[in-house]
Amino acid sequence: MSAVPIDGKAFAEGLRARIATQAAAFEAQAGRKAGLAVVLVGEDPASEVYVRSKGRQTIACGMASFEHKLPAETRQADLLALVARLNADPAVDGILVQLPLPGHLDEQAVVAAIDPSKDVDGLTPVSSGRLALGQNGLVPCTPLGSLMLLKDRLGDLTGLEAVVIGRSILVGKPMAQLLLAENCTVTIAHSRTRDLAAVVRRADIVVAAVGRAEMVKADWIKPGACVIDVGINRVPGEGGKTRLVGDVDFAGVAEVAGAITPVPGGVGPMTIAVLLRNALVAAADHAGLTLAGGL
Ligand code: NAP
Repeated sequence: MSAVPIDGKAFAEGLRARIATQAAAFEAQAGRKAGLAVVLVGEDPASEVYVRSKGRQTIACGMASFEHKLPAETRQADLLALVARLNADPAVDGILVQLPLPGHLDEQAVVAAIDPSKDVDGLTPVSSGRLALGQNGLVPCTPLGSLMLLKDRLGDLTGLEAVVIGRSILVGKPMAQLLLAENCTVTIAHSRTRDLAAVVRRADIVVAAVGRAEMVKADWIKPGACVIDVGINRVPGEGGKTRLVGDVDFAGVAEVAGAITPVPGGVGPMTIAVLLRNALVAAADHAGLTLAGGL
């Protein structure tokens, strides 16, 4: 392996430590803790694990965690009423509605009901619009975490060719906007892209957010490129167990790339750390305070 592995776990730990310091400073100045509310509808086991982990990490960083668990059969009107209560609650700085919602609920309408100043997932139309316009606002956690890893590794990204594979609202599109704001030349590839391998071969930065196990191969990669693997795929492992792999063929690509995020331990740990960062940034905004030092 010639590529430098990018240790997202260590970076996320460092970020959480900085957040904890600043959360304590916030509490001292504002006279209250910054607060993050997470809403979970139904009993999806993977979502329950995420929500528990978010709650634990929120408290560990010295912030207040408010968990709202609603039954799977919750009506749209009741969920919207809860969002409205959280919007109005001065103890709540960030609101995250865990997706996906059960099928009978209108996800877009629920997300759009979140006060943009509390939109720590960065998914409301207002937050997306601000990102597209280059205005200050809350940005989706996984792409922002990926950008932090890229800048930590590469420094100034100006002029670099970036190819983002995937155009989802959650990852691909905001990732492309963030890279554009860093003055990269950005290509967004997707399932209809012709000759994806040739497109990816141009890239100094490759961000794979597809959801297809080990799809990106070594001969797609320009030697020395920086590869960010957002994918989380479960594949059969030894002894009937499953194991996690990314969208990138790690073993092969690591022979060609300059740097690469592993799965697990790359982008994954960044997502919750950035969520906490967004909650604290929102809290400072609500209290009219400036956070000392960058987050
Ligand atoms: P998504 O909404 O399913 O979007 C996948 C994107 O990949 C779509 O734009 C799709 O193109 C494109 N695509 C599918 N097959 C392709 C192919 N053969 N060639 C080129 N492009 C192809 O997924 P997502 O929410 O963005 O998530 C992507 C991956 O990241 C998943 O593995 C997910 O689990 C993971 N993820 C990880 C984190 C984290 O914390 N690390 C957070 C979020 C997501 P079309 O638009 O043309 O269909």
